[in-house]
Amino acid sequence: MSADPASLLVTSLRGVGNKIAEKLARLNLYTVQDVLFHLPFRYEDRTRVVPIGSLRPGESAVVQGEVLLTEIKFGRRRSMLSRISDGTGSLTLRFFHFNAAQKASLERGATVRCYGEARKGAATLELIHPEYQIVTALSNHEAEEHLTPVYSTTEGVHQLKLRDLTEQALKHVDDVYEWLPSDLLTELKLPTLQEAIKLLHRPAADISVHELTDSRHPTQQRLAFEELLAQHLSMRQLRERMQSHQAPSLKTAGKLQQQFLDALPFELTGAQQRVANEIQTDLDRDVPMQRLVQGDVGSGKTAVAACAVLSAIEAGYQVAMMAPTELLAEQHYQNFRQWLEPMGLQVAWLSGSLKTKPRRESLASIEDGSAQLIVGTHALFQAEVEFAKLGLVIIDEQHRFGVHQRLALREKGSSEGGHPHQLIMTATPIPRTLAMTFYADLDSSVIDEMPPGRTPVSTVVIPDSRRNEVVQRVEQACKSGRQVYWVCTLIEESEALQCEAAEDTAKALTEALSNLKVTLVHGRMKAAEKEAAMSAFKKGDIDLLVATTVIEVGVDVPNASLMVIENAERFGLAQLHQLRGRVGRGSHESSCVLLYKNPLSRRARDRLAVMRETTDGFEIARHDLEQRGPGEVLGTRQTGLAEMRVADLLRDQDLLPLVEQTATQLFEHWPEHIEPLIRRWIGDAQRYADV
Ligand code: ADP
Ligand code: MG
Repeated sequence: MSADPASLLVTSLRGVGNKIAEKLARLNLYTVQDVLFHLPFRYEDRTRVVPIGSLRPGESAVVQGEVLLTEIKFGRRRSMLSRISDGTGSLTLRFFHFNAAQKASLERGATVRCYGEARKGAATLELIHPEYQIVTALSNHEAEEHLTPVYSTTEGVHQLKLRDLTEQALKHVDDVYEWLPSDLLTELKLPTLQEAIKLLHRPAADISVHELTDSRHPTQQRLAFEELLAQHLSMRQLRERMQSHQAPSLKTAGKLQQQFLDALPFELTGAQQRVANEIQTDLDRDVPMQRLVQGDVGSGKTAVAACAVLSAIEAGYQVAMMAPTELLAEQHYQNFRQWLEPMGLQVAWLSGSLKTKPRRESLASIEDGSAQLIVGTHALFQAEVEFAKLGLVIIDEQHRFGVHQRLALREKGSSEGGHPHQLIMTATPIPRTLAMTFYADLDSSVIDEMPPGRTPVSTVVIPDSRRNEVVQRVEQACKSGRQVYWVCTLIEESEALQCEAAEDTAKALTEALSNLKVTLVHGRMKAAEKEAAMSAFKKGDIDLLVATTVIEVGVDVPNASLMVIENAERFGLAQLHQLRGRVGRGSHESSCVLLYKNPLSRRARDRLAVMRETTDGFEIARHDLEQRGPGEVLGTRQTGLAEMRVADLLRDQDLLPLVEQTATQLFEHWPEHIEPLIRRWIGDAQRYADV
């Protein structure tokens, strides 16, 4: 009876053969412990029958009543309606799929018990497709003893099967190891792990479903704490492992850097200098740098990156610089060529869309070491790319890659000579709470000062109905020598349709502004076409650039002073901030017009108001996090890392200081507890940590 559930395979449970085990693997359930930690994501209260008269819209409940009338309605959609009453009130059951037998069973006078969510109907509350049973004198209808857990399922393993498996697994719950120090548990005044697991799988009838659904119950806090701890530990462990690797020291006399700075038309800001120094200190050492540089849009991250690039090159190493989109990578490529080629250095380009011949040439120059800086998209990390002597990897705008990708890249970048240094640059400020959990493996630097001479961008929010005024504004700006971006997008999910929409807008604007030069850039154009359009805009040959969000990051044209964003209500805050950051880069008075279509949802209205009121990236990030939650903000939703089971970074942020403290204790006194804790909560994702 005392086997560790972490080492008992699911096949030890009754009714689980190899076939079911394979299906359970899809839910990441391999051991009995995994089943115990497969917690319900919601609960239903079927423990009591609720009087119909007391039911409120939105509430899910069991009701029982007598059928007054069942009829088929031919409205917009054919449906079967059954009106029932229990004396306290009446409601309607609505079915869109039904058969004759069902209609017959719901005959007038029958007693029916149903479970469903009450919605407001035309006359009464309605239950749409409720689960129901006809109650007869003979049938046995005991109310359920516990709240009903609802698990996430997979094909071939349905709800009842999971209920049975958890029931069996719960017999082993007392053998689940407690890895947390006992004085901490006393301090937290939280229930034991075993109690917590039991309760969450089979909550007693008197516990509030709402409290459970919001994960505010003390037992859930117990588990949330442990989950946050496991996440944090895994990131710290990763960091420790990285620190145990070798990296080349990139200590140099700084000649190339000096040459570059002398040629720059501006001085670095104090913040840029400080961050460049922090980076250099890391590069001097022979352990891999893992540094995150946060700097708002336009704060001048590229010049800082250039300093690091030149140190690596001077020390005799190659640098790989990766950007999330082809357009942004191209901008960097052009930029760095302008900076480095006059110094006699060689910059190579690599992207997925490169044709065979230039691709082969690029690969050869990477392999033989003649290319000193290689700029590209994630194509840089494909298997056939072999670096001669990679010393530094720079990832720009990294939040778009997601945490897992970042971790995977570390592996790819490594070679026998050791691990390259890694510099990550992001314009999305990362609130400390998130940083502690998801970036605990990184050191961080902040460029908290803007280059001088920038004029703040003023933002106006205007309904689409006043589009003509906006078009006039575009004309005025261009007449006075400035340039304009017009961003259109996102009514449609499909990229093809988005590009079509952009084409239509470009056409309409070309007609309306016949004396201006208008050009279009979108994601489906060939790389060369995009590049041609962008460089023409950069040179000032084009007045108005109509674009999809391909211009979101990195594009840098100081003479552009007006940005119009269509359907601004569809964009998230981070994206709007990025887009708006394309203007206000020169000394001209700049503005941003957010065009929206009515009706506006409340959240969209809030977002637009935030944009109108502030240009502070940190402030905007804070609102963004509140509105969308960390999974979305970090772009890790798909990868599952931010999708925690019980914990919620925002709700549970009060726990974080204690999480950090406990992690330190474990590293010092109970290092052997760390691995099993991580495995319990993160399991599969942990393989990314095998650096
Ligand atoms: P981001 O941090 O958004 O990547 P960039 O590196 O693209 O910003 O820099 C934005 C613009 O500011 C560029 O035109 C760059 O040349 C300019 N810039 C960078 N640093 C300074 C500085 N210290 N003084 C003046 N202009 C600067
Ligand atoms: Mg940039």
